[in-house]
Amino acid sequence: MPRIKVGDEVVVLSGKDKGKVGKVIEKIPREGKVVVEGVNITKRHIRARRRGQESGIVERETPIPACKVMLVCPRCGKRTRVGVKISVIDQGEKEKLRICKKCGEVID
Ligand SMILES: [Zn+2]
Repeated sequence: MPRIKVGDEVVVLSGKDKGKVGKVIEKIPREGKVVVEGVNITKRHIRARRRGQESGIVERETPIPACKVMLVCPRCGKRTRVGVKISVIDQGEKEKLRICKKCGEVID
């Protein structure tokens, strides 16, 4: 069960972007990293290789360790740890849901 999913709103816990809130736009599970909108922006200089190609500076988010972000609960708006709740759908089929540890509401 992933603690953080793409589309989640998270807050940055440390580093130069500490306190920033943004949406997770990419996950890199292999590296345990996430890319958060507007967080850890680096500037890259692009040099034109062909005529007509534009050169300039491109700003891009770079991945940060997933352990450095915390979910912002869409229900209560607080930063929270994620709990897991098993809900039983019909036919005894089970589904894992994420819950907010602060307000107890199901996130999804
Ligand atoms: Zn909550």
